[in-house]
Amino acid sequence: MLPSMAINFYSLGAAGEVTGSKHVMEVDGKSYLIDCGAFQGSRAEADRKNRDFGIPVDKIEAAVLTHGHFDHCGMLPMLTKGGYKGNIYATPATRDLASLVMMDSARIQAHDAEYLRFRANRKGENFDWKPLYNEQDAVKATGQMVTTSYNRPIWIGDGVKLEFFDAGHILGSAFAYLTVTKDGKETRVAYTGDLGRKNKPIIRDPSVIPAPDYLVLESTYGDRRHESTDDALEKLADIVGRAVRDRGRIIIPAFAIERTQELVYYFHMLVDSGAIPEIPIYVDSPMATNATTIFQVHPECYDEETNKAFIRHHKNPFGFNSLHFTTSVDESKALNNLKGPAIIISADGMCEAGRIQHHLVNSIGDPFTTILIVGYMAEHTLGRRLRDGEREVKIHGEWFKRKANVEAIDAFSAHADYQEAGEWLDSIDTSRLKKIMLVHGEGKAQTSFKDYLAKKGFKDVDIVQYGKTYEAE
Ligand SMILES: [Zn+2]
Repeated sequence: MLPSMAINFYSLGAAGEVTGSKHVMEVDGKSYLIDCGAFQGSRAEADRKNRDFGIPVDKIEAAVLTHGHFDHCGMLPMLTKGGYKGNIYATPATRDLASLVMMDSARIQAHDAEYLRFRANRKGENFDWKPLYNEQDAVKATGQMVTTSYNRPIWIGDGVKLEFFDAGHILGSAFAYLTVTKDGKETRVAYTGDLGRKNKPIIRDPSVIPAPDYLVLESTYGDRRHESTDDALEKLADIVGRAVRDRGRIIIPAFAIERTQELVYYFHMLVDSGAIPEIPIYVDSPMATNATTIFQVHPECYDEETNKAFIRHHKNPFGFNSLHFTTSVDESKALNNLKGPAIIISADGMCEAGRIQHHLVNSIGDPFTTILIVGYMAEHTLGRRLRDGEREVKIHGEWFKRKANVEAIDAFSAHADYQEAGEWLDSIDTSRLKKIMLVHGEGKAQTSFKDYLAKKGFKDVDIVQYGKTYEAE
């Protein structure tokens, strides 16, 4: 006999890897989709995986989005394109950021299609690649979003209640906390999305959630500790100092959302404290500029300090005199002739697309340039190759010798490291906890994190495998 209430979990992305988050909770055969992100990495492989969508759209009762990063929201337009008519639940800030991210992706895909067609034609090759979705599909996905703020529980299906708790990862980021009630029995399932960290600038710390029965936990840094922010700021000041001496440039590939605003915040702090002189800083990413605007209209997501600066003292934490936001292509191109010392922050964060690639082409051969890595670089990305110290890299299909220095600062990560994740677990009531399911991590990080959790007394920990079903008790 079937149990009166069957709850199953499976993942169609971010299982044994860090991108493509797509997690499904099934309740009596009805599917609740948590995140619908894009796979990233090498172009051909990511494209294949994103195309092979793997979710029967007509079975989805509701979709929930934890935050606006591309690897969590990027394939939502594939849902609406495939005929999904239901709601997509998100916090208001997540809706705004996700809208920006999905539109940006649609534009990049259209642009890529044009460029690849041109190249194929030139070589006399056949060309049949099509974008995964277009701007209309992205608009449709945004139109299906239903927003609910943190700590405002909402019913999203028969006996299924959703509540968002602050995840401390990026603006608007949330844990999706699902409570399934049936026949008087309550099952609580918490999806962390991406678990943030304490003491990040701008946003609040990760929340303490009510005792869960099942926890679907990310494990990106399952085997790593981050540097302390103080050390990182010192290193940042050193790198700027060297650029000032050498009249060099600092090129920073950064995610347009959160990382760019944080860097601006940190540079602002360093200038204010006199640790670095005021040198020109260019944020060369239309997306980062737009995202910064979104940051300015969501004070409900700020921590105490930012609220104080922004609301009470009318100070803008996202802007100061030497900071320039470039928007037009001409302004961006003009940066090619920019004399140092100067800082250019540009996207995409893993150097796989966008204006950062042009800046790298322009500066990679210059020994006075520093390429500063401040974020996670997934396997098989240009960013990872730079981070790994490769002397020769391929950009826009051509090989370049690297003479620029590469430096990395890990402290700005938006993800908890293993100890911080452990501390967060310690802060919540785990007396009901039956199982932890690890997602969003690469092999070594996940096994190491599993061992760490075992030492902390969490015995029932599964490393989630792609497509495998896990049953609730
Ligand atoms: Zn994220």
